[in-house]
Amino acid sequence: MTKTYDTCCTIMDKLLINSIYMACEGEGVFIGSSQIFIRFQGCSIGCANCDSMDTWEFDSKYGIEFSEVLSRVEKIHNEFPVKRISITGGDPLHPAHLPGVLKIVSHYKKKGFFVNIEASGMRVVPELFDAVDFVSFDYKTPSTKVRGKKELVAQMAVKYPGRFQVKSVVADVADFMDVNEAFEYCRDQLKVSRLPFDWCITPCYCPGEEFSPARTERIISLNDACGGPFRIIGQQHKYLYGPDRRNI
Ligand code: SF4
Repeated sequence: MTKTYDTCCTIMDKLLINSIYMACEGEGVFIGSSQIFIRFQGCSIGCANCDSMDTWEFDSKYGIEFSEVLSRVEKIHNEFPVKRISITGGDPLHPAHLPGVLKIVSHYKKKGFFVNIEASGMRVVPELFDAVDFVSFDYKTPSTKVRGKKELVAQMAVKYPGRFQVKSVVADVADFMDVNEAFEYCRDQLKVSRLPFDWCITPCYCPGEEFSPARTERIISLNDACGGPFRIIGQQHKYLYGPDRRNI
């Protein structure tokens, strides 16, 4: 069960970390890039088709010192000299995580790393978004049962052109139509024919599911019929290792 921020504020001198690992980015515009992932533990958003429900719980048992985060990253970096970090979750933008995330970003930016943050799309956090190299910003679709915030996508386009992507998990036609409507809304708001960022659609591939080529084919056809506003990028790691393996 998800705990609230209030119940975990006593452990905020530590960072709640689910895992730190090296992997090849499996989705979005950086697909295929080697990255060190720092996955925060704790999310209170509750997407119905979340593929990382194990990261929801806020619990002090996941708390580690900042120095421990650095030493785990260093151990990986010594073996794989990759200078890209992706901070993910969970919800790394949750107020409980933010101080720790800012410390990590500041540390690795000074060391010349490229830092990406995976943002749930529920809030824009200028003090963090100004500090990272890139923001991967979700627009939630109806199948997640969380209301997508198209106003925030339009805001991102004004404030961070060229420094962010939008990612949307699409399960069915209703999801696609909703994303397309949000896309048109952003074009209207910005008064442009082409949005100044990539909007990636991730065909839904949930834990426990069989891979459905038909779902992806359907989404590609819908995109084609609308003039191709989106990039349809599947989750490569799930095709390779199946939808249930973690940290790959
Ligand atoms: S924001 Fe991410 S971690 Fe949180 S419930 Fe949604 S998909 Fe899962």
